[in-house]
Amino acid sequence: MTVLDLDTQRVPCALCGGGESAPVCVNDALEVARCAVCGLVFVNPQPTEAALRKYHAAQSLLQQDGWSSYFQHTPAQIRELWEERFGDLRRWINGGVPRLLDVGCGYGDFLHVARESGWRVEGFEFSPAAAEVCRSRYGLRVAVGDLLELEFAEGSFELITMWHVLEHLRHPLAVLRRCRALLEPGGVLALEVPNLNFLVRKSYRYPLSRTLHLYHFTPTTLAALVRAAGFEVLECRPGNTGFQYPRRWKVYAKKCLYAVSRAVEKLSRGNVSDSIRLYARRREISIGARP
Ligand SMILES: [Zn+2]
Repeated sequence: MTVLDLDTQRVPCALCGGGESAPVCVNDALEVARCAVCGLVFVNPQPTEAALRKYHAAQSLLQQDGWSSYFQHTPAQIRELWEERFGDLRRWINGGVPRLLDVGCGYGDFLHVARESGWRVEGFEFSPAAAEVCRSRYGLRVAVGDLLELEFAEGSFELITMWHVLEHLRHPLAVLRRCRALLEPGGVLALEVPNLNFLVRKSYRYPLSRTLHLYHFTPTTLAALVRAAGFEVLECRPGNTGFQYPRRWKVYAKKCLYAVSRAVEKLSRGNVSDSIRLYARRREISIGARP
């Protein structure tokens, strides 16, 4: 099953609700458009909610290119990637034993690293097959289904992470609002997504049928979406998609690209790396204020 087989429908802008957009390109027969009001770039029409659920439920998902390439990496490379993200996340914790929810936890490798440090961890995964890998490999608690309907207790997590997940979601604003409700007051949300402002390649050109990226964020549109969901943005900067390549020359090439991106960023003060990492704190809403 590919994205080309899915039922689709036109959608309003997820950030501002606007219905006017200008085409950016056509990717795998679906149009990528930019909102005329706020500038958010997204696939429109999009696969329907039911179609996406069917897509995630397909066992074949685990064999598809975008997923199976994960297994080409050595265990040490995968661990290095997650340890970097975990180490960065720890900066926002003031001792204690944090309770963490990883939304879109994939094969559970990040949750495993966090649990080794004594954290209390839970996962949510869209693919039942991937969730089963989490359970059988690591014995993790992983929920599947619809995050908006799951019966997690509100305010029960100190941290929620979404590593390269938000761009796949049909309703990113609704999911971020749900994450806000699941966080305790003062809780922290950590996100990483591909960067539309990447120096050498626009993320919307990656084949949609392989990536299923429905949204293409810039640092500006990502921060605006997170604020609209009721968060205060703490930090928004280049992310790290790791150097987990089987071939050494690819590792060197990417390290060079990162160095050039950093130099451009210093000159322009903009994020032109391949990803955006954003940390946000749940904003407490005074009576009468809009969420
Ligand atoms: Zn918009």
